[in-house]
Amino acid sequence: MFCSKCGKEVKPGMKFCDGCGYPVKTTPEQQNEPIFTPAPAPVVPEENRPLGPWAYFGYGLLFSLPFVGFILLIVFSFAGRNVNRKNFARSYWCWLILLLAFALIFVVLVLTGVLRGTAQGVTQWIQSLRL
Ligand SMILES: [Zn+2]
Repeated sequence: MFCSKCGKEVKPGMKFCDGCGYPVKTTPEQQNEPIFTPAPAPVVPEENRPLGPWAYFGYGLLFSLPFVGFILLIVFSFAGRNVNRKNFARSYWCWLILLLAFALIFVVLVLTGVLRGTAQGVTQWIQSLRL
C-alpha cells in the first residue's frame, strides 16, 4: 500500500504515513472523505444576534425622527427581543437626557438674562468687520 499524498510505501495497519504524516485511507469511501471536517458555525440565538454598523446607524436615524422616533425608542427599549437593539435603544435615553439638560440650561440662561445682548453683540461685531 502506498501513501495517497507522497507515494511512500505504508506498512499494513499504520494509520498515518511515516513519510509525510498524512492519514492512511484504506477503503475507497475513506479516500473521498475529507481529512478534517470544519466545526459547524455556532448558532447565535435571535435575542443575542449582533447588530451591524448600518443597523446602529439606521436605528439612530429612526430614533431621531420627531414623535414617531420617540414612540419607537420606547418600544425598542422595553419590548424588543434582541438584547443588542434593546441596549442601543436604552443608551439613546442618555443622549436624550443630556439634550434636555442642555436645553434647560439654555432656557434658564435666557430667562435670567445672562444671554441678553449676546445676539446684538455678535451682530455688531460682524458689522464692525465689514467697515
Ligand atoms: Zn505520505
